Amino acid sequence: MNTMTDIAALATAGTDTTDTSTSATAPVAAAAPTFRDELLAAGLLIDTGEDGLYGRSQVFEDVLERVNVAITHLGADQAPEVLRFPPAMRRTDFEDSEYLKSFPTLAGTIHSFCGNDGGHRRLLRALDDAMTDSDDDRSDEWMEQQKPTRVVLTPAACYPIYPVMARRGPLPEDGRTIDVMSYCFRHEPSLDPGRMQMFRQREYVRLGNAEQVMAFRQMWIERGSLLVTLLQLPVEVDLANDPFFGRGGKIIADSQRAQALKFELLIPVANPDSKTACLSFNYHMDHFGAIWKIECDDGAVAHTGCVGFGMERITLALFRHHGFDVNAWPDDVRALLWGDTAGIVAQGMATHTSTLAAAADAGADA
Ligand code: ZN
Repeated sequence: MNTMTDIAALATAGTDTTDTSTSATAPVAAAAPTFRDELLAAGLLIDTGEDGLYGRSQVFEDVLERVNVAITHLGADQAPEVLRFPPAMRRTDFEDSEYLKSFPTLAGTIHSFCGNDGGHRRLLRALDDAMTDSDDDRSDEWMEQQKPTRVVLTPAACYPIYPVMARRGPLPEDGRTIDVMSYCFRHEPSLDPGRMQMFRQREYVRLGNAEQVMAFRQMWIERGSLLVTLLQLPVEVDLANDPFFGRGGKIIADSQRAQALKFELLIPVANPDSKTACLSFNYHMDHFGAIWKIECDDGAVAHTGCVGFGMERITLALFRHHGFDVNAWPDDVRALLWGDTAGIVAQGMATHTSTLAAAADAGADA
């Protein structure tokens, strides 16, 4: 049962779902297929027959990896600890995360056959029966022999790190900054190529006190905007909310907005009239700190926040706005991705910072 207290508690979570926001995206069914068809025809994405599950071409992966390198240079001065996990996490950690309270329909669990010879025979009989039907009508009765495993698919790249950080004991005085990247799973089959079921998130995650996390988020709203500017894509940062499930979901979403816990950087991807969240800037307050008992050096419950880069979405936005021939992309974008990436990012940060300082001065003068 969901009491108001539960809802209030959830509302402060700012639960991180970088790639699922529906805050500014129009209905996709009517608008998306054209761009999707073009991507498939060009071979940039490879159809698997399942909506939202694609192969990627060499060209697509090359662009994605170069964007990833630019993100590394953008965060290098933060000296983040680099951690990589497989796209699965311990089921008990997932249960603790309270993800199922907010996003039950998006979660993906992993099941395996754990039975005996009799069970195996039942499985094969059910499978034989199923094979006589077409793909779409196939019975899933054989899956009755499958049992939940102790692992689930990762819903957001930062989820695996919180229990790991908690086990290390109190945070150092400066807190911690972690660099993660992972394939993530969300069960939301769609024809919008910007809404995949399995996609990569690159994240920087900050753990510390509220001040440290808020400063981190502000810095990344600026740096994320810089990256998108350097990529010559339109920049629009907006207040956002996660797609919380159920009757209480609206209240939680409204509260998340009222507390300004989540911002997104939106870029038109599938078509010019709808915008897709390509980056998100999340402040979880002490939600994860309280769940996993992560402490600051003074014993206070740690706050956390993260910036998430939707790697496929940024890559798709580049193809959308600059065309499918990467050799014909604007010179400055080519220089950033295929040239002196570190130098251009450093120069951009220096210029961007002075622009921001000038804007702040101008504001102070006014
Ligand atoms: Zn995150």
